[in-house]
Amino acid sequence: MAEPLTTIQAASQIIDFIKKHWKELIVVLFIIALIPVIIFSIAINVLFPQVSREEFKIYKSLTEETDISWDSLVAYDVVRLDNYLKENKPNESVFDLLKVDFKEYEIIETENEISKIVDGKIVTETIIEKEYVVTRELEANGYTTIKDLLNSLDYVTSDDNMTVKKVTDFLDDLNGKEEYEIETSILSDDEISEGFDERHKEWFFALIEILPLIDPTAEFDPDQFIIPDLTDPDIPSIWPASGTVTSEYGERRLTHTHKGIDIANNTGTPIRSTANGTIIAVGTSGNFGRRIMIYHGTDENGTTYVTIYAHLSNFSVKAGDKVSQGEIIGLMGNTGYSKGTHLHYEVRVNGTPVNPRMFLP
Ligand SMILES: [Zn+2]
Repeated sequence: MAEPLTTIQAASQIIDFIKKHWKELIVVLFIIALIPVIIFSIAINVLFPQVSREEFKIYKSLTEETDISWDSLVAYDVVRLDNYLKENKPNESVFDLLKVDFKEYEIIETENEISKIVDGKIVTETIIEKEYVVTRELEANGYTTIKDLLNSLDYVTSDDNMTVKKVTDFLDDLNGKEEYEIETSILSDDEISEGFDERHKEWFFALIEILPLIDPTAEFDPDQFIIPDLTDPDIPSIWPASGTVTSEYGERRLTHTHKGIDIANNTGTPIRSTANGTIIAVGTSGNFGRRIMIYHGTDENGTTYVTIYAHLSNFSVKAGDKVSQGEIIGLMGNTGYSKGTHLHYEVRVNGTPVNPRMFLP
């Protein structure tokens, strides 16, 4: 009978194994470390093919230590530039979210002599009276006007100094002086979107709801999830297209498991929104080909619903459009990574793809 392995023998066997296979082990560890990065990149890529992970970091760093929320800033740029983020200058557009109410006074001092009778004697006192005359009053909003104001106050407006944090600190200090009355404030989301038309407004507010969910810290907790009322037209609850189901959610693929359901039919078969909602993305995105994303709102439990329709041949909606349940949004196709004409349909709850069957009649 073989001697049972002692702890020392077991340990030395492990060390031998590591010595022999260290190269492979490093590769495995490296891949494991990369998984969260890859998942996050994919999530971002699906939503905004134009915004890289690096750019998200820039947006976040620009709003750090300020009361500006990074998702408002990203949504503002995406909507303002109609998703064409190659022309974005977030370090400048962040100042569109800042408002400075500025007043400068000239203080005029006048000496007045006042004579009083104290104990039967005339006593003369000198009193200094101050008069505050407004010499400059303005409201600055946006990079250029705020920079002009700062220049006039002898603030060095180098790139390094032009951060919301440094600028507001400088203005708050100045506000402590007698000649100034300065109030800095961050615009609310309603104020930010004031200049947008209705469609861009809808798009802006939908993005604000969605953006925090693609943050890598956002989670979907299946235990907390209550299956919603499927008769509610705000909840995805109808078939997005007619056809044959060719692949179910959760099927194992070579590189991943299937995150949606595939429905095959002829090219040009109408694709319908499965609930009332707002279009948040229309365009081409990697393996999805031509795809549409719809935000269906957030229910009273704080649960958010998004649906994705991929591989389309054509679109009939634009980002920001409001759609009703059953409305045609595009046509079935074979774009992106797709072998044969079909629709890839996903339902995302709080950002996580779940089985669309839960939401189908
Ligand atoms: Zn699919």
